[in-house]
Amino acid sequence: MSHTTSKTTGSKTAVVTGGSSGIGAASVRQLRSAGYQVITGARRLDRLREVAEPVGAVALELDVTDPNAVKTFAAEVERRAPEGLSLLVNNAGGALGMDRIEETRDEHWEWMFQSNVLGTLRMTRALLPSLIASGAGHIINIGSIAGFETYPGGSGYTAAKHGLRALTRTLRLELLGQPVRVTEVAPGLVETEFSKVRFAGDADRATKVYDGMTPLTADDIADCVVWAATRPPHVNIDELVVRPLDQAAATLVHRRPVE
Ligand code: NAP
Repeated sequence: MSHTTSKTTGSKTAVVTGGSSGIGAASVRQLRSAGYQVITGARRLDRLREVAEPVGAVALELDVTDPNAVKTFAAEVERRAPEGLSLLVNNAGGALGMDRIEETRDEHWEWMFQSNVLGTLRMTRALLPSLIASGAGHIINIGSIAGFETYPGGSGYTAAKHGLRALTRTLRLELLGQPVRVTEVAPGLVETEFSKVRFAGDADRATKVYDGMTPLTADDIADCVVWAATRPPHVNIDELVVRPLDQAAATLVHRRPVE
């Protein structure tokens, strides 16, 4: 894969949250290929190391829902990147459950807001000084088409991703005049562990989400992350909405008969 870089990325450091699987893991690999030093965090340190070590990235335990863990992680990033942080990819997150509003559970909503929205808020707050200090920082938030569409059973997840989108857009306004770009990458269906997590490990139900259609891969989205990051520093890609060809809307998916 080739990417045009505006200048050498040899000394640039990127942080990727949720690097232990899916889009985060693919972003760790592709950012390393593009020349970034990469520090990645997630809760499952064993899985995270399996991603990071082969490509020479740094794996650090991180739970974005825990303010103290975020503080410790940010201090370690500042120690490892004293020249400042070039890129923060807020990717950690996901969905839990797919129930109608009458049946949806508070704890699912709380988990989704904690990981997708408050986790991004905490990471951004903690690392913003370092992003500014780099002189050319960039925050890429992994949103979703759920950030501007809704669908039955998706109330908690779509509310969280709508919230994340509001946070991203507010950040772009508030950072005007600072050397920090702000981008949202909003994917449609991507085949990762997302559906397995959503359906509490029910592999059959998770597989059915992608039945008869060709979903995006984690690498398709990592490609967008690297592309947005490697535009010249005066170019801010506000939003990238990326869907599979087989998906026109959250609930409108073209499926071929499955044998
Ligand atoms: P995934 O394979 O389940 O990966 C989710 C990642 O987030 C894992 O590495 C997980 O690591 C990490 N994570 C979750 N909670 C965390 C926490 N509290 N602290 C730190 N890390 C945490 O799913 P994915 O599809 O790659 O999801 C990545 C992002 O893309 C999510 O924000 C998701 O909402 C978004 N997205 C996905 C799709 C899709 O169709 N797959 C579509 C649109 C948007 P640990 O469990 O090890 O902590």
